[in-house]
Parts: sequence; structure tokens; C-alpha cells
Amino acid sequence: MELLKKQRDFFATGKTKEVSFRKKALKRLQKEIILKEDAICDAIYTDFKKPRFETLATETQFVLADIKHTLKKINYWAQPERVSSTLMNWPSSDYIYNEPYGTVLIIAPWNYPFQLAIAPIIGAISAGNTAIIKPSELTPNTSKIVAEIIKKVFGPEYVSVVEGGVEIAQQLLSEKWDYIFFTGSTRVGQIVYESAAKHLTPVTLELGGKNPCIVDETAAIEIAAKRIAWGKFLNAGQTCIATDYILVHNSVKEKLVDALKESITSFYGENVENSTDYARTVNKKHYSGLKEMLKGEEILFGGQYNDADNYLAPTLVNEPKMDGKLMEGEIFGPILPIISYGKEADIDRHIKNHGKPLATYVFSKRKSFQKNIINKYSFGGGAINDTVIQITNKNLPFGGVGGSGIGAYHGKTSFELFSHQKAIIKKGTWFDPPLRYPPYNLPMRFVKMVKNLF
Ligand code: NAD
Repeated sequence: MELLKKQRDFFATGKTKEVSFRKKALKRLQKEIILKEDAICDAIYTDFKKPRFETLATETQFVLADIKHTLKKINYWAQPERVSSTLMNWPSSDYIYNEPYGTVLIIAPWNYPFQLAIAPIIGAISAGNTAIIKPSELTPNTSKIVAEIIKKVFGPEYVSVVEGGVEIAQQLLSEKWDYIFFTGSTRVGQIVYESAAKHLTPVTLELGGKNPCIVDETAAIEIAAKRIAWGKFLNAGQTCIATDYILVHNSVKEKLVDALKESITSFYGENVENSTDYARTVNKKHYSGLKEMLKGEEILFGGQYNDADNYLAPTLVNEPKMDGKLMEGEIFGPILPIISYGKEADIDRHIKNHGKPLATYVFSKRKSFQKNIINKYSFGGGAINDTVIQITNKNLPFGGVGGSGIGAYHGKTSFELFSHQKAIIKKGTWFDPPLRYPPYNLPMRFVKMVKNLF
């Protein structure tokens, strides 16, 4: 592929290894995003009626904050990091050098179509790589503006966008890359991993999962309802870390359901369809899939839809069928199943039914219960007494585990993710005891003492 060759040649010039070059690139990107912020909001609105407030908060300002933080810290991150040396190698000074991988491929999904295409680029650039981004074909207007911005800011030999669908993604994946960063479904994640394995290319897979939210009998119900409903219906439920289903103690279930209904109405009004603060489902296929999931389920609230623009109201489902479509895989839409439990052992049964999720949330005042959930289950990340907000702290790594992904990014973690950590020992020459060299005359009992010198 000609473009990839160009990037490889450019990387070989060593230009991207200059920190000043990376900083200038990030500043140009920052400027262009600020300039095009309105157009980005319009593009995402055209794609799935995402409210402007949500686009600013979760897409443009989100990546601008990441660029600002990276610009502030990059000089420090890019320096070789000195680590303690060992007696064994004395006299020496020991370092970790962060080395860019080279050419990076970034494949993005549609649900946060700007943020998830640009945020990995910030990491790739800050670490000194070149990059090609393939945005999602399901949000064509955003894909177009991402391409325009990147073209304006960078030469194609440095950072470039290749637009297109599955076929284009597969063509790109058939090439040899130095790093692949993929965000999307677990199913496609497996395809990406297989393609990468052919060239032993390292990967990050940011995937999905079925995220539980546990509400126990001590939880502050009103605040829990508000925070769950906000995180769930933001982006019309199309958020990888949104609550997928609620597990609520049966003594507070009714109170929680009432509070959820109140929260939804207070957010979006009596007729959600008329609200300008509520997005739409991205396309017909996804929308039909969601409607299908509701078949045969007991709807407690919502359930209204409009085929004309893929509108599905925020919907609460009572005690979903455990073998039904709703509880089979990730919902990824504005449907919230509510399951009650009596004993804590029931929580275990439900959570273990699904793979390791990307997020888990707990609403409880009991510290021991919070701690128990954090320690007992494996999941990407989460929050106590809130939902979704773990993504907003740049000092926290963001990523999944098991079926929900491999690797993590954001802030310094992004810089480290796109860098190979090269171990270097710089050794003095004025002292060179003969002990390690053949012929091995040292008594064995001395060799066994070597472990104390590491
Ligand atoms: P998807 O896996 O269908 O598509 C993602 C990207 O892969 C797109 O660019 C698409 O063109 C490409 N693609 C699709 N099929 C392909 C194939 N057969 N071969 C190669 N490439 C292919 O995902 P999506 O529907 O765009 O996004 C929704 C999914 O992404 C959800 O599962 C969600 O949980 C997950 N997600 C995860 C995160 C995270 O950070 N962990 C963030 C957002 C979304």
C-alpha cells in the first residue's frame, strides 16, 4: 500500500522522534478542532441527532482536554526514565527509553465517532508514531470531517485518514503495521486480533461488554436513579461503558423504578421524542435489533418508537427473560433491564453469566460491599455511586479485560501504550570483577548467593 510505504519512509527519517515536532503537530490539531468545533457538532447531529451539549462534552472538549494535558506533560514523559540499578551490575545507571513503534493503524467505531478516532491519534503522535485512521462508515458525516481536519493539519506521510467500510478495514488489516489500535465490537476485535497475529503486531482492543450496575438496600436511591439514567441514556444508550442492566435489592426495587421514571421525565420531558437533548439510534439495522430485543419483554416505562428516524424512547424492562435476546449480549441502546435480587449470591450468578465487562457500577453506602464487588469481579473499570465518569479522569487508564478488551489508554497511559519501553543499562568500565566469566571457578555456594545481588 503506497500510503503506508510513505509513512514508513517518513518514520525512518526520524522526524517524529523529535519532541518539538510532536508538540507542533498536536498544537495544529488543537487549533483546527477549536476552529471546526461547530462543524463537528453539526456532522454528528446529522449522523444520529446527537445533542450539541453531548458532542461538546463527550467528543470535542474531551479530546481538547487530552491534547492540553499531553502538551503540558510530553517533555517529561518523553525523557528516559531512570530506575534503580542493582548491585549485580554495579557500577551502572539504568533507564527506560520510550521508543515509538512506527506506523500505527487506528480503526474507530461510530458511537463516539469523533472522540474515538482522535483520542488514539493524540497518543500515537505524542509517542512519535505515524498513523492512519479508519473512521466508521456508519457515521459518514463525522468520518468526512475527521478526514478534512486530518488532511488540513498533517501531511499524508505522517497522519492520514482512509475512509470506508468493512472491505477497506480488511484491506488495511492485511498490511503489516507496527501497532494496531481497534475500538469496536468483541466480534470484530477477534478478526483484528487474528490479522495482527499474522505479523505479530501488538494490538490494543477497546471492546464492549455487558455492564452490571448493582444497587443495594443502603443506596441513596434518588441520586442513584439520576446517575444511572444519565449514563444510560446519554448518546441514546450507545455508550460502551453505560449500564447494561441493573441488579437491585428487592426491598428497594419499586423505589428505584419510580425514581428512574422521574429522572427520565425530568431530563427529557413527558414526550422524549420532542426533546432536543436525546439522540437517535445510529441506523435501521441497529434500531431493528433493539426493537427485536423488546419482543416478549415486560416494559415498565418507555417503549415508544418511531421508524422514521430510528427513535426509541428510554425504556425500562422488568425482570427480563434470562434466555431472551435482551440478556444475551451487549444491548447498546436505550433499553435498561431491571433485575431484582434477594441474596448477594444471586448477584454472583447474574454477573458470572456474562464475560468480563468493560464497566461495573455499585450504588451502596456499605464500604465492605463496595470493596467486595471491586475485589471479587474482573472488569475494565467502574465507579462507586456513579456511572460512566471513570472515563473523565485523564489519570486513570481506560480499557477492558478479557472479552471487553486488551490494553488501556488516556493521558500518560496513551503515551506509554504507543511506546515500546526499551530497557537500557549504561555500564561503567573501570570495575570488572572476573567472577562471571568462564572458566567458572567460583564455588557453587557463592553462585547461589547471586540472587541477593539482583
Ligand atoms: P464494529 O466492531 O462493528 O466496527 C468498528 C470498526 O470496525 C468500524 O470502523 C468498522 O468499519 C470496522 N469493521 C466492521 N466489521 C469489520 C470486519 N469484519 N473486519 C474489519 N473491520 C471491520 O463496532 P461498532 O458497531 O462501530 O461499535 C460498537 C461497538 O464498539 C460496541 O460493542 C461497543 O461496546 C464498542 N465500543 C467500545 C469502546 C471502548 O472504548 N471499549 C468504545 C466505543 C465502542
